Amino acid sequence: MAQKRVLSGIRATGRLHIGNYLGAVKGMLALQDNPEYETFYMVADLHTLTTPYDAKTLKDSVREVVLDYLAAGLDPEKSVIFVQSQVPEHVELAYLFSTVVTIARMQHLPTYKDKVKQYPQANSMALLHYPVLMAADILTYKADSVPVGIDQEPHLEIAREIAGKMNEAYGLSFPEPKRFTIKGSEYIPSLKGEGKMSKTVEGSYINLTDDLASIRQALAGAPTDSGKGEKVPAEGGVANLLKLVGLFLGETKKKDYEEAYIGEGIKYSELKGELAEAIFAELKPLQEKRKVFENDSSLVDRILKEGAVKAGKVAKETLAETKKAMGLI
Ligand code: AMP
Repeated sequence: MAQKRVLSGIRATGRLHIGNYLGAVKGMLALQDNPEYETFYMVADLHTLTTPYDAKTLKDSVREVVLDYLAAGLDPEKSVIFVQSQVPEHVELAYLFSTVVTIARMQHLPTYKDKVKQYPQANSMALLHYPVLMAADILTYKADSVPVGIDQEPHLEIAREIAGKMNEAYGLSFPEPKRFTIKGSEYIPSLKGEGKMSKTVEGSYINLTDDLASIRQALAGAPTDSGKGEKVPAEGGVANLLKLVGLFLGETKKKDYEEAYIGEGIKYSELKGELAEAIFAELKPLQEKRKVFENDSSLVDRILKEGAVKAGKVAKETLAETKKAMGLI
């Protein structure tokens, strides 16, 4: 049976944090290691241009994401690893797809509205067009599965709508892509007590490259309460810490802390100390692997070059098929 395809990507906005790792990269790893899937993983440098960025450091930011991918275990023997802008067919396909999408549909997306609120001076056409380019990223490879966090669901909905419309209008056969996330990891909360862990919110995240002292420091800033009460909080700083306990120390440990909360009380210095150790223990092997790739930039260059060739081959086929169906060739 033919392998199903998978596409995912992360914007080049610096080093990855544990929200990216749990929400996206762990899913990417699970599908990479499943022989039923052919996996394509990119660094989404073109998507990086949709919010303010520094042209001088963009290439370095792309490299940081590639290094984090390789450190986390993305394997060029099993996955096609590439940089989005090196496969220009994505952009051409995005233009073709934009013909079946209305401006109103894009303007109503919550992700678009949030970004405009965050960067009112940067309400560009590229930002509005982001989900169409993301649909092109996915449909270029006719991917069924897309390992991303839950925040990307509205964009996946657009990709499904575009696939449906292109199939109906032009007799194409794009699959309707579905989100894939490891259960419990689709939304990693901020360390600041509200919202999601995000690169753009200082103090909200722990990077994959952080040492134990930095992890301790980040957790020290997480808001807590008196440590006891009648009911374990369902949201806010304490709930978020307990979620991380579940993810890094296990569900049994989380239950122990929850029982302590309604019983003798939690000592947050202990909880935070134990959690910091557990997070660092998971990140340490990645950090060691990262060093190997950091010290061999020609190997990384080669991986990306080969990745772009392999991805480009599939992309050219999909683009030609689409152009033919649309009457262009
Ligand atoms: P971004 O940095 O926005 O390009 O996100 C890259 C990937 O990480 C996407 O798949 C996101 O859904 C995922 N991601 C980012 N932040 C989180 C989070 N706090 N929890 C879960 N997944 C996340």
